[in-house]
Amino acid sequence: MGLLEGKNALITGASKGIGRAIALRFAQQGANVGFTYLSSQELGISLQEELQSIGIKAMGFRSDAASYQAAEELIGAFIAHFGTIDVLVNNAGITRDALLMRMSEQQWDQVINTNLKSVFNLTKAAVKYFIKQRAGSIINITSVVGIKGNAGQANYAASKAGIIGFTKSVALELGSRNIRCNAIAPGFIETEMTAKLDPQQVESWKESIPLRRGGAPQEVADCAVFLASDLSSYITGQVIQVDGGMLT
Ligand code: NAP
Repeated sequence: MGLLEGKNALITGASKGIGRAIALRFAQQGANVGFTYLSSQELGISLQEELQSIGIKAMGFRSDAASYQAAEELIGAFIAHFGTIDVLVNNAGITRDALLMRMSEQQWDQVINTNLKSVFNLTKAAVKYFIKQRAGSIINITSVVGIKGNAGQANYAASKAGIIGFTKSVALELGSRNIRCNAIAPGFIETEMTAKLDPQQVESWKESIPLRRGGAPQEVADCAVFLASDLSSYITGQVIQVDGGMLT
């Protein structure tokens, strides 16, 4: 029997990268999986088919995580399809890197709205269902950059640090209702997001990582399985780094 048998999970931003790996790992562990995508429609449709072929209930939704109204509609549609929600993974995220001197208001707003406001939007819309069933696990994908900061990513670092404050506050507010809220802080994970980075910079990072390599999306997904499952039933308000020891 899988670790997530009988649980209904929603993952934002799962058309590729870490979100996609989480959707597949959850399904392999027996969860029913709802997921979102925005621009990558074809990838979203093919993921839905791949998940269904595993033998669980799966549904992809095209939904902008940055929109409050879309998040409300999404949770309504998820409940209509799956009946309940047990796990919410706030994963959708973007980068719009620039040094502060060159960063536009638009670059700031896009990153804050997609990475941070989205976490508020989805959590706010889902929480009434978690409260009703007196159970739930919320997993927010932050970053080591939210802990340490990074030159050229003031917008991204601020959004990810904001997620950590939000995660701890929600854990404090909702612990008495048996609702857990944790964050995962990946380090350098090889996805489309990091494929844009300067290869020389990437090599020098890898050398400074104790495990001497970048991580795979599946290695972040395995941590998400743990936090979604009852194996972590006494863990809330925590930030787990999945970074090969990068920030140690
Ligand atoms: P990715 O490969 O670029 O995938 C990002 C995903 O987010 C895509 O599925 C994308 O969907 C979705 N997305 C973007 N904007 C969205 C929106 N407004 N509404 C709904 N979905 C949206 O990135 P990744 O590397 O897997 O990153 C996933 C998460 O991990 C992000 O929060 C990122 O900040 C975090 N993270 C990544 C790393 C890393 O090294 N890769 C490290 C630390 C943290 P569409 O393509 O369909 O638009």
